[in-house]
Amino acid sequence: MDPKETKERMKIPRQKMSEQSPLERIKNFYEVPHGFSAEQAMEEAKRCIQCKKPLCVGGCPVNIDIPWFIRLIAEGKFVDAARKIKETNALPAVCGRVCPQEDQCEKVCIVGKKGDPVSIGRLERFAADFEREHGEMQIPEIPKWTGKKIAVVGAGPAGLTVAGDLVKKGHRVTVFEALHTAGGVLMYGIPEFRLPKKIVQAEVEYLKRMGAEIVLNAVIGKIETIDELLANGYDAVFVGSGAGLPNFMNIPGENLTGVYSANEYLTRVNLMKAYQFPEFETPIIRGSRVVVIGGGNTAMDSARTAMRLCPEKVTIVYRRSREELPARVEEVHHGEEEGLKFQLLTNPKRFIGDKDGRLKAVECVKMELGEADESGRRRPVEVKGSEFSIEADIAIVAIGNGANPLIPQTTQDIKVNKWGNININPDTGRTSKKGVFSGGDIVRGGATVILAMGDGRRAANSIHEYLNTGVW
Ligand SMILES: Cc1cc2nc3c(=O)[nH]c(=O)nc-3n(C[C@H](O)[C@H](O)[C@H](O)COP(=O)(O)OP(=O)(O)OC[C@H]3O[C@@H](n4cnc5c(N)ncnc54)[C@H](O)[C@@H]3O)c2cc1C
Ligand code: SF4
Repeated sequence: MDPKETKERMKIPRQKMSEQSPLERIKNFYEVPHGFSAEQAMEEAKRCIQCKKPLCVGGCPVNIDIPWFIRLIAEGKFVDAARKIKETNALPAVCGRVCPQEDQCEKVCIVGKKGDPVSIGRLERFAADFEREHGEMQIPEIPKWTGKKIAVVGAGPAGLTVAGDLVKKGHRVTVFEALHTAGGVLMYGIPEFRLPKKIVQAEVEYLKRMGAEIVLNAVIGKIETIDELLANGYDAVFVGSGAGLPNFMNIPGENLTGVYSANEYLTRVNLMKAYQFPEFETPIIRGSRVVVIGGGNTAMDSARTAMRLCPEKVTIVYRRSREELPARVEEVHHGEEEGLKFQLLTNPKRFIGDKDGRLKAVECVKMELGEADESGRRRPVEVKGSEFSIEADIAIVAIGNGANPLIPQTTQDIKVNKWGNININPDTGRTSKKGVFSGGDIVRGGATVILAMGDGRRAANSIHEYLNTGVW
């Protein structure tokens, strides 16, 4: 691109995406941002200066050819753009919405050095939505069956990626999912207003149309073990069972009525549609004052969900300061616009109940930041004598999730680390057990959608190689 054109492109302002106003959206669960129009997408795409050495590609965990797909959008070839992205990312409509682009591709975008980076995530979302909404999701040609069968445990982003990649290589794949709906955290964790469930289900349907079989309500380790799957005709198994075991604070009062784990709270609302009770049968305590404990995406999702159900006051209690909040900047911004309050440098000490065992307050203590810990972040230290109480009828504990122990406990010879995460060779996804591969949150602990998908892709290539060579 000649320097004059580059200069012109650098002058184009970043396109604003329209969204529901805060006052409107806290009364509903509809998606907050509306997405780009075709004109806006083309204008935003023109801001990309088509770098010779595009740093953005290196910033993407699955190395999407970003300048190429953006150029296609600038030329109005939206479906081609979506197909280009899909060469390396099977779930662009999901990733365009939930990936932390500000820490990945957009963080290193050259245009961002002197102004706002190109909106790579929003363009990804636009291309994928356009393809789906215009019925252009083409089924690729599937090769003749290789005669090999693979079982995938868990239908989250890791498992769905493995399944898609292996079907495309001609293998027969069965995905076993414990819940009654496929999608993993995309269905039960991330709320509708951030990721509409019909988008996830469109991806699941696409996978089925390609030929993957999905068996729901099937808990591996209970109905059948991995050893039994291998003995009963499966040539390889991929474990993508995620990190769905909630951590608790182990402080007094944690089993009072009104104290939820974020996992239970979000599952009730998202997966079981408690926000549409009684039309859907799952109840949820609505309350009016809510305390959410934690500072990550799960805490933000819980708090923003609570804002829509318990409108009086929702407070995030986080033990470090604002700078250390691990949640996405966009989530914090949206939460604050919706009226969310932050009680920073604060930690809960106990939950206080009334005579009927219902939560009525959370006793907290002030914290200050001390020396850096092993994560490099300054360690929060209690300020003696600074205890105070926050009135609350609901508390949601969102301090992270651990690995579910069922698979390791029921599978011979599978090695795990001290936190119960499955050990793998990171280049191949191979576990310590012959024929068994793994990836995603069950390996990494709570991570991101794109990292889970990257693990899935690597494992699928490795499974294919193993099935072809038989060499372990
Ligand atoms: C509330 C919340 C918000 C998040 N927000 C973001 C975000 O904005 N951006 C982002 O990138 N990441 C986000 N994450 C993290 C991201 O969702 C995960 O890293 C990702 O989903 C991991 O994918 P996975 O396939 O490894 O596991 P999961 O998505 O957890 O899927 C695992 C699946 O395996 C099933 N399963 C478990 N055990 C068994 C068994 N024994 N038999 C059969 N099935 C089983 C589970 O039911 C589940 O469906 C968020 C996580 C949470 C909890
Ligand atoms: S770094 Fe930014 S400007 Fe350069 S190719 Fe990537 S998106 Fe375009």
